[in-house]
Amino acid sequence: MSLTVIDRVDAFRKAVDAERAAGRTVGLVPTMGALHAGHLSLMKRAALECDVVATSLFVNPLQFGPTEDLTAYPRDLEGDRTKTKAAGVSFLFAPSEAEMFPQPPLITVRVSGLSDRLEGAARPGHFDGVATVVTKLFAITGACRAYFGEKDYQQLAVIRHLVADLMLPVDVIGCPTVRDTDGLALSSRNAYLTAEERAVASTLYHALLAGRAAIEKDHETDPDTVRRVMTTVVEAEPRFVLDYAEVANGADLTPLARLNGEVRLLVAARLGRARLIDNLGAHA
Ligand code: AMP
Repeated sequence: MSLTVIDRVDAFRKAVDAERAAGRTVGLVPTMGALHAGHLSLMKRAALECDVVATSLFVNPLQFGPTEDLTAYPRDLEGDRTKTKAAGVSFLFAPSEAEMFPQPPLITVRVSGLSDRLEGAARPGHFDGVATVVTKLFAITGACRAYFGEKDYQQLAVIRHLVADLMLPVDVIGCPTVRDTDGLALSSRNAYLTAEERAVASTLYHALLAGRAAIEKDHETDPDTVRRVMTTVVEAEPRFVLDYAEVANGADLTPLARLNGEVRLLVAARLGRARLIDNLGAHA
């Protein structure tokens, strides 16, 4: 399988159009690069289910707040090229910022409600930036199956909504979170952690497991109690600054007065220079 790296919008559009015209299905895996086994699991799944796989690599400035880590965000095009090739990807679309934004954008795609809770409350404008650029990527790519990780659970929900509301010819596929052996969810931002911070980073996962056990083993239905269980685990590790530990409706992430059915546990915390997020499903 050969890999073609493309940095122009027109060339990428032509390449995927030609695949579809030849009767082949297209799988799309949008990323911001600094690829790890979590990203690669999406590409491998896409390669199993689609005739050709395209990965996009674009560090999207619209989804970073003014005080966030846009300039520090890890970048490794050469490494990413080798990894995508090994994962069976045919096209690596890596446009520059000027290519994606030849003029300042006047359109913002906004999935209201869902974009304002949890990560949206902590990072105002973040999901508008995600939704706007993912809509552009879908407009460039055309009909495809698009693969996203459950690691960014709220992002996945936002993207499902935008595809449904805008009636885009895209099947959105959610894929399970890939974790390190100690349970830490793989993330490009884990590169910011010192060895000492890395050693305690899986605390977030343990907090989620404790929340899930409270629901599934102790049959807890009070969200406050579940939040407290998770908060206690995170705060026992003083290096963490907890942002939120929440339990919400599994489908739309709305708050619940009583836990019932499929729910989602979600945590976000700062650890040194890194802001980490994670989530887990539970059945109440
Ligand atoms: P990013 O490069 O962080 O924007 O992520 C690109 C895609 O990879 C998104 O759909 C993420 O949800 C997904 N992803 C990131 N980390 C993981 C992981 N540990 N397991 C599965 N998918 C992931």
